[in-house]
Amino acid sequence: MAKIYVTTAIPYVNGDPHIGHALDFLNADVFARYHRLLGDEVRFQTGTDEHGNKIFQKAGSLNLDVQDYVDKNAAAFKDFIEKLNVKSTDFIRTTDEAHQRRCQAIWEKLAPHIYASKYDGWYCSGCEGYVTDKEYAENNGVCPDHQKPYEKLSEENYYFRIADFKDEIKNKIESGELTILPEFRKKEMLKLLADSPDVSISRPKSQLTWGIEVPTDKNQVMYVWIDALSNYITVLGYPEQEISEWWPAAAQFVGKDILRFHAIIWPAMLLGLGLPLPKVLCSHGFVLADGQKMSKTIGNVVNPVDVIEKHGVEAFRYFFLRHIDSFADSDFTWEKFENSYNNELANDLGNLVQRLATMAAKNGIKQIEFTPELDKEYCKKMDNFEFSNALDYAWEKVQAINKRIDDEKPWMLAKAGETEKLNACLTSLVENLLKANQLLEPFLPGTAEKITAVFKGSGEIVPPATPLFPKN
Ligand SMILES: [Zn+2]
Repeated sequence: MAKIYVTTAIPYVNGDPHIGHALDFLNADVFARYHRLLGDEVRFQTGTDEHGNKIFQKAGSLNLDVQDYVDKNAAAFKDFIEKLNVKSTDFIRTTDEAHQRRCQAIWEKLAPHIYASKYDGWYCSGCEGYVTDKEYAENNGVCPDHQKPYEKLSEENYYFRIADFKDEIKNKIESGELTILPEFRKKEMLKLLADSPDVSISRPKSQLTWGIEVPTDKNQVMYVWIDALSNYITVLGYPEQEISEWWPAAAQFVGKDILRFHAIIWPAMLLGLGLPLPKVLCSHGFVLADGQKMSKTIGNVVNPVDVIEKHGVEAFRYFFLRHIDSFADSDFTWEKFENSYNNELANDLGNLVQRLATMAAKNGIKQIEFTPELDKEYCKKMDNFEFSNALDYAWEKVQAINKRIDDEKPWMLAKAGETEKLNACLTSLVENLLKANQLLEPFLPGTAEKITAVFKGSGEIVPPATPLFPKN
């Protein structure tokens, strides 16, 4: 039994929850539930990133007080996490007073690696980001994401000296002390690390008001990095409280688009604070719609809430954890989703539960008290963060039970009056279903609970009154 800390990236609350957020939450939830199954004690952080100009401007455009606006959106994310049946233990908001206070303390601790410098160059107000001369030339002076001409900007900021930590981060990534998953992203990160400049970590108040004040300079506000990345430790109480009970995190889940910040700036911050690096940074790919990137302009954005409403949260979890690869970009189509629901959830699993419970009840087979040992092959996949493969594996077990029923034909045994053989056959099938069910638990917790309630215990087996996955 171990203490396990798992985190998700904190979504920026200037819009509604989307599929990408769901992947973060689900992957972390599967990891957390798997470790609970192993008997580990799990602390699981989620939360929201609430500062910055985009949020400030969005609230203004809606005529809302900015705090009211982030309160409303943070509540929407909290609600979304509950809808996904994600069981986190902590929800941090970067506007929390304790987070802001702790961030300022973290800034002060990092002071030996922070310096003031002037920025003279191009800027996109949509990205809230600096633009290199190279990018400016490549994009002919117009931001491709915002279709806005880049602006000239000249300002004083504070910079965080990444250069102080490059060698150490490189060593830790290469030695596997910090594991980056998937493996092919590791090389990419090492290359980015080698080329990484120091990062600007503040803005003058004239540019940015909605943020945490730099503790050493009343005229400057923290720009995203220290504010947002610190959440993983401020939520544990750092630096006011000792965090070694939970830190380093066993795994931090992020999208591939923000992996670089987690593989460079975040480790540099931790080393600057004298803290160990997380054990694993696990990045997932994007969900495509019909092979295309989802975009508001194309109008092909799939709203996760619509998918949940179609067949319920278990079907949502099932599809995105099995048919969306744990690491690579994968495709969502409604057709694939419907097929997986009908053929796999309804037929393979739902029918199996109904059929086996009915046969067992009819032949006087009682519930069994049975807690199987966790399958080693499955654990190997889970320990390697290959969640979609692990769910494939669990599904093979489900299909194998269906095949056994077809091969052994318990109804023929009943007809022939072979009671002993029949009882042994049905009992063994129930055992196998409970074994498979255990493997499904981190992925389909609601379904696993129902299956357990039917077959496990010391009472009668009663077939579910309605199918687990009704067909429409
Ligand atoms: Zn832009």
